[in-house]
Amino acid sequence: LEKAYSFMIRIRLPGGVATPAQWLATDDMAEHYANGTIKLTTRQAFQLHGIIKSNLKRTIQAMDKAAMDSIAACGDVNRNVMVNPNPYLSFVHAETLKKAHEVSNHLTPKTRAYHEIWLDGEKVQSTEEEIEPIYGKTYLPRKFKITFAVPPSNDVDIYANDLSFIAIVEHDKLVGYNVAVGGGMGMTHGNEETFPRLADVIGFCTPDQVVDVAEKVVLVQRDYGDRTDRKHSRLKYTIQDRGVEWFKTELDKYLGYHLAPARSFVFEDNGDRYGWIEDANGNFHLTLYISGGRVLDTPSYPMRTGLREIAKIHDGDFRLTANQNLVIANISPANRPEIEKLLEQYGIKDSHLKSALRLNSLACVALPTCGLSLAEAERYLPDVITKLEESLEENGLRHDAITIRMTGCPNGCARPYIAEIGFVGRSPGKYNVYLGGGHAGQRLSKLYRPEFPGDEIPQLLAPIFKHYAQERLDGERFGDFVIRTGYVAETKQGADFHAN
Ligand code: SF4
Repeated sequence: LEKAYSFMIRIRLPGGVATPAQWLATDDMAEHYANGTIKLTTRQAFQLHGIIKSNLKRTIQAMDKAAMDSIAACGDVNRNVMVNPNPYLSFVHAETLKKAHEVSNHLTPKTRAYHEIWLDGEKVQSTEEEIEPIYGKTYLPRKFKITFAVPPSNDVDIYANDLSFIAIVEHDKLVGYNVAVGGGMGMTHGNEETFPRLADVIGFCTPDQVVDVAEKVVLVQRDYGDRTDRKHSRLKYTIQDRGVEWFKTELDKYLGYHLAPARSFVFEDNGDRYGWIEDANGNFHLTLYISGGRVLDTPSYPMRTGLREIAKIHDGDFRLTANQNLVIANISPANRPEIEKLLEQYGIKDSHLKSALRLNSLACVALPTCGLSLAEAERYLPDVITKLEESLEENGLRHDAITIRMTGCPNGCARPYIAEIGFVGRSPGKYNVYLGGGHAGQRLSKLYRPEFPGDEIPQLLAPIFKHYAQERLDGERFGDFVIRTGYVAETKQGADFHAN
């Protein structure tokens, strides 16, 4: 008799796009092979939890049937490429999604091992170099994360990723992309040699250079990244140690040409735009708030069933956001009344009628699913927010968007170090509290209280909310306010993250 091992499977969805058929297939896998829930992740992927070992192969085969896979959803390779979630709003989004797919396809490992092991594929004899012209025998020193963003939305958090492309639109035309490199969140408690870092914007490339630039950035990291210490092996440390100018020079050598100077752009926020939107083609998009990205049924809120019924009649697609929310996208005018009826019937219609703090919250999976978690996150942050909402109400801040994020460990999967309020698990019930991140994800935060009891967070923050309500400047964001008024010092870049 063997132990009842259970697994998590991450389903790769480049750009976070799923067809209704793929949604239904995922829902079916969640029902029959997993724990009855679908997790929408902070990297626009699906996760299924609680799959017992004997169902693993069946689940992967069901994914394959629905044209989905788990290739490069983990490991020292390029991971799921993220994109602003709603490409139908303009041609810029659509072109950017296409470009992201090209990059994703180009950087997906070519090995057939996945097919041989899980899909009973035929064994092919070849060397690693033949199979993996980019990754070679040794792959990358560490995981690699790529995003595409269309300003003014920075929902994919370009500053927290290894490589990002920022769409530049001039005179209503997509002229190319700014290139940002060297961002990353993970660190280790008690080890100041590790720190989160913001990506540097290093130049501009034309659309037809994007795949080449992505490949060459990966190659520089493959060849120069630290392979002796996994805690120091991400691109952010390669750039921090050797300097941005060194990286640019090296990249130019690999490319055989220079990147053009970066063009101007403005990000307004890194949250989601909830509710209905009509696009230029007359189709509709509805962004729903999904607490913790967890799609499930409860007796009072049968959301998974409702979304399943919607998927059965939906003629557009689904878009996962980087904030773990869901866009029912590209709904035709003819189909909208039916969908609205189902939204009403299953209580989903008003999913976004919440405080602005809750709508701008993000938590990683943490306990009980993630083996690395030191404290609760997904199951705990909603309760913390409920308590914080009391003081927000008292101070007239219910509709003020403040980003708040919690993770169960310092790996930072929910990107807590760029939130205006961040909590990072230290031990059961205790969190490092960080303040002062940028509202658009453009600035790192600073440690405000180490190892702070989670149940005292409302008392800690209530006086600051009151102060903010009384003395903020016109339009001043919470993250800016706590720096101006001296709660924390500004963090300019990763190297001074730990400095007071
Ligand atoms: Fe990521 Fe840590 Fe959260 Fe696990 S506990 S999901 S590793 S941040």
